[in-house]
Amino acid sequence: MIFCSLYSGSSGNSIFTGSERTRILIDAGLTGKSIISALENIGENPSELNGILVTHEHIDHTKAIGILSRRFNLPVYANAKTWQAMQANIGKISESNIMVFDRPFTIGDLEVSTFRVPHDAAACVGYTISDGKKSVSVATDMGVFTEEIRLGIKDSDLILLESNHDIEMVKFGPYPYPLKRRILGELGHLSNVDSGLAALELLRNGKKKIVLGHLSGTNNVPELAYKTVENILIEGGLKMGADVDLSLASRIRPSSYSEV
Ligand SMILES: [Zn+2]
Ligand SMILES: [Zn+2]
Repeated sequence: MIFCSLYSGSSGNSIFTGSERTRILIDAGLTGKSIISALENIGENPSELNGILVTHEHIDHTKAIGILSRRFNLPVYANAKTWQAMQANIGKISESNIMVFDRPFTIGDLEVSTFRVPHDAAACVGYTISDGKKSVSVATDMGVFTEEIRLGIKDSDLILLESNHDIEMVKFGPYPYPLKRRILGELGHLSNVDSGLAALELLRNGKKKIVLGHLSGTNNVPELAYKTVENILIEGGLKMGADVDLSLASRIRPSSYSEV
C-alpha cells in the first residue's frame, strides 16, 4: 500500500492512498486546484484515480468533491446520511458516480471498511483500506477515541490519527466559548494528550507507522503535538523508532509519503 497525506488539518483534508493497481482519495476538502497540484507533486495523475471516499460532510472534507468528480468522472463513496448532508456542498454528481454504501465494499483490488466516529456530523466514519496484505487507516474528527474506532484500526500498518489541539491552547485561545466547548466536547476533536493515549493503546498490538494529523492552525503547534504524543509513548515504555514510526502530516503540503 502507498499512502500520502496531501493536506491534513482544520483548513482542509485530502489523503491519497492505494495499491499498485488502485488509487483513491479520502476526502477532498480544499480547492480542486490545490488537490490537483498536490497529486501532481507526488507524481500522481488525478484522472487515474479510481474514486473518492468521504468521511463526513464538513466543508474541510468536501469542498472539491463535486469539482473533482465532474472533471475526472470519479465515483464518490459515502454512506446515505452523509450523502444527504453534503448534497448542498458539492453540487450535481453524475448518477453513475453516486456510490452509497452500508457495509464493507471493494474498489478495484482494495477492501474498504468503515467505523463510526463520534463527531458533530450526520454520520461521520473513518476508513481502513487494505490490499489484502497491508492496511492503512484514517481516523480523524473524533470527539473521543472509542472501542469501535480502536477495533477498526488496531491491525493497520499505518494510521493517520487525529492530534487536533492542545487543551490549554483551546481554553486560553481566541475562539468564542461555544466553539471552545464544541472542540473539547465528545463530538468535537481529539486532543494531543488523547491522541497520545490512543497511540499507546494501538501500539500494544505491535509496531506501526502513526501519522499525527488534522492539527488545528489556531490551537496547536506541530512540535507540541509531536512532543506530547512522544512523551506519552516513552512514559508508556515504548522506544521511538524501534516500537513506533511517528510522524506529522502537514496542514499545507503533501507529507508522510509511505509504502507499507
Ligand atoms: Zn469535521
Ligand atoms: Zn475536519
